[in-house]
Amino acid sequence: MLFTQEHEEIRRTVRNFVDKEINPYVDEWEKEGRFPMREIFKKAGDLGLLGISKPEKFGGMGLDYSYSIVAAEEFGTAHCGGVPLSIGVQTDMCTPALARFGSDELREEFLRPAIAGDMIGCIGVSETGAGSDVAGLKTTARKDGGDYVINGHKMWITNSPQADFICLLANTSDDKPHVNKSLIVVPMNTPGITVSPPLDKLGMRSSQTAQVFFDNVRVPQRYRIGAEGAGFMMQMLQFQEERLFGAANIIKGLEYCVDVTIDYCKQRHTFGQPLIDNQVIHFRMAELQTEIEALRALVYHATEQYTKGRDVTKLASMAKLKAGRLGREVTDSCLQYWGGMGFMWDNPVSRAYRDVRLVSIGGGADEIMLGIICKLMGILPGKKKG
Ligand SMILES: Cc1cc2nc3c(=O)[nH]c(=O)nc-3n(C[C@H](O)[C@H](O)[C@H](O)COP(=O)(O)OP(=O)(O)OC[C@H]3O[C@@H](n4cnc5c(N)ncnc54)[C@H](O)[C@@H]3O)c2cc1C
Repeated sequence: MLFTQEHEEIRRTVRNFVDKEINPYVDEWEKEGRFPMREIFKKAGDLGLLGISKPEKFGGMGLDYSYSIVAAEEFGTAHCGGVPLSIGVQTDMCTPALARFGSDELREEFLRPAIAGDMIGCIGVSETGAGSDVAGLKTTARKDGGDYVINGHKMWITNSPQADFICLLANTSDDKPHVNKSLIVVPMNTPGITVSPPLDKLGMRSSQTAQVFFDNVRVPQRYRIGAEGAGFMMQMLQFQEERLFGAANIIKGLEYCVDVTIDYCKQRHTFGQPLIDNQVIHFRMAELQTEIEALRALVYHATEQYTKGRDVTKLASMAKLKAGRLGREVTDSCLQYWGGMGFMWDNPVSRAYRDVRLVSIGGGADEIMLGIICKLMGILPGKKKG
């Protein structure tokens, strides 16, 4: 991918934003289990960072997706995964379908304020009985006059405790599972919606994730994104950006783990020499850095193809799979060389170890990525090559 001056400016802007507005407060937010989303989103919105590749007509910068990926990578310089996750939910998980398929009226009402940082969004796909098996979700949106009446629940919804709207995937007919779903934007203050207290998570502590319940929630049918029954297809497309964001966002955090581990191993002496002087350790650091560069190359390659309008389902799935696996490998290896210090809760590597664990689970687990890749390689029994 060739980077322009504009890419570098976005990189610098995000970096400064993270250094000034996020990193000084991360320890406090991780302890509190939340961060001031409205304030941070507003500041990011004022800088244009919530709408980099969104249409100019609704307040976005109208740049191609490579610029969003540069921002995603740089948001990874935050010293926690939770805040970038919340930002990614807003930019790359709950708004791509709205931006691409939403009516002008809907985009004016929800996309413009989301880009400006005046509204917080969340994405409602998973349910207790349907995480990996998205097609099996049970929440329904039944037509009643000009409205939909929504019943059901969503599980593990990041940002939901503070969100203004949810981009909801629900069954709008009794047709087959891949053609009976629609994406609907639902304001979170609609009567009949309740949100559970935030769930107590292993990592991503500064972001909030909760359950959302719908009891006869009534919204106008004009809140549907695109055609009725096209929700599953639109969500699969929306997942491509979620997966590329997730993979890009992990890169700098892994490099940070390697860097701080090298520094620590230079200072820490055992048996009369710095830890880093053990070949097993400095070779390992070199190997991990090489793997991170390989992940970066895969993410850039997938992004370049995406900006050319190619279908990147396979590449984005590969990038997400590799990011999850490598995230576990890098953080586990680095943590080891901190010894007991690595086992302490507030250690930077132990936080990364906990946070990156989500990458192999959320947005489609590793095994789901492998299934997609196999299908597109034509080696899944009963499936043709895509
Ligand atoms: C912190 C956090 C934040 C999240 N945020 C959101 C959000 O904002 N919005 C949202 O909609 N969802 C969100 N999720 C949900 C997430 O996308 C799901 O947890 C994920 O898709 C896995 O679904 P599941 O938990 O139901 O696991 P299951 O579907 O029960 O699968 C369990 C495990 O089984 C394995 N597995 C599953 N199927 C197969 C198979 N066919 N072959 C082999 N192995 C398999 C995988 O290893 C998987 O991890 C979040 C989850 C977490 C933990």
